Amino acid sequence: MNRDSLKEYQEKRDFGRTPEPAGKKAGASPAPIFVIQKHAASHLHYDFRLEVDGVLKSWAIPKGPSTNPKDKRLAVPTEDHPLEYADFEGVIPAGEYGGGTVMVWDTGPYRNLTEKNGAAIHLAEAVAHGHLKVWLEGRKLKGGYALTRFRTGKDESWLLVKADDAEADATRNPVADEPRSALTGRTIEEIAAAG
Ligand code: MN
Repeated sequence: MNRDSLKEYQEKRDFGRTPEPAGKKAGASPAPIFVIQKHAASHLHYDFRLEVDGVLKSWAIPKGPSTNPKDKRLAVPTEDHPLEYADFEGVIPAGEYGGGTVMVWDTGPYRNLTEKNGAAIHLAEAVAHGHLKVWLEGRKLKGGYALTRFRTGKDESWLLVKADDAEADATRNPVADEPRSALTGRTIEEIAAAG
């Protein structure tokens, strides 16, 4: 497990105040998982996270993912999160880092499809190189998705694009039409009300 990569996550949070996991447990799933958390913070966004080497590599996607291969969704990298975060759903108190309501909007296993010249590339390496392709087996999202970095430095930015495969569907709008938690079936308002 890449424990050092959680330092930024831990430094940003006061675990006496936020219900988020501290990330002290080492993790690894039988099959690697992804999670997309809807996060109603100061700006609503969707956090796309992929399990890589025992942590969750993370990107914030303001508009959320699309099932239409023609859509390019901005994805801004954020700090690695502990694997335990994958089933975190709840309320981060106002005034704390990321204050707002968090929902597990989609989750499931994924397969790494990244390759270069026909050879498979480990996902950690793919992230470092700025291009990866995964196959998602979520409750809502299925099929291939590519994440590609287009800007480096302080404003590092990536794009999330649906692969044009059998799971692509330009008529769906899951962000708008499938708003409930993949874990508990709750709406963001119900999670917020439960505190
Ligand atoms: Mn977030």
